[in-house]
Amino acid sequence: MIYIYLFILGTIFGSFYTVIGLRKPVNESIIKPRSHCENCQHTLKWYELIPLFSYIIQKGKCRNCGEKISLMYPLIELLTGCLFSLSYFLYGFTFNTLISIFLVSLLVIIYVSDFKYFVILDGPLFIFGILILVTKFFLGGIDSVLTSILAGLLLMSVMFAIKFLGDRIFKRESLGGGDIKLAIIMGITVGLKLGLIALVFASFIALPYACYILLTNKGEEMPLGPFLITSLWLVFIFAEPITKIINLFLYI
Ligand SMILES: [Zn+2]
Repeated sequence: MIYIYLFILGTIFGSFYTVIGLRKPVNESIIKPRSHCENCQHTLKWYELIPLFSYIIQKGKCRNCGEKISLMYPLIELLTGCLFSLSYFLYGFTFNTLISIFLVSLLVIIYVSDFKYFVILDGPLFIFGILILVTKFFLGGIDSVLTSILAGLLLMSVMFAIKFLGDRIFKRESLGGGDIKLAIIMGITVGLKLGLIALVFASFIALPYACYILLTNKGEEMPLGPFLITSLWLVFIFAEPITKIINLFLYI
């Protein structure tokens, strides 16, 4: 039951996060105008706004004009629903489930805003940063909160150093301010050691996309945020085996 409940909750939040990611970077209100068809401006009724369900019932088309609805919407709703359920599957009724859900939430918003506008919104970073810190407090008290903040600031300094070098090597802006702020969240969530690993791992998973951008001449810029947050979530999920491997290497 709880899996279905979390899945449905995830699809609803996924739909909401998509609106935030699409509207906030261009300073549009989240509530006005109401959701509408981009083609005929037809305002969507409540039954056309049910995540996943409406898309399937309407066979992916606008009820008014028949224009195709972007597959992005149901895919994001499906993804968020699955990842919410997966979080509970991995951690059960614990605070780690909450942290995982917060990370998934940030992930979805960053995917939308960074791929579309090359923007990582401050608001969600701040809100989920605070929520993660509050959860840390319940997990390990004020010590845990302070260590997390320290790790966040240290990882931010590392990102600054990378940006400083990158800007000089490439002679242009190499990392955006959003990426540096996201590094704080990375440090807060998994600490300095795993945070550094997440940074390195992010550049590995970004590599295929970077090659694709270069080979297809799709422009100079590429978002890094989606890869950073994906890497962070994976490192959070696999924290235990990764820590074991690090310790093994340190032991040798
Ligand atoms: Zn329409």
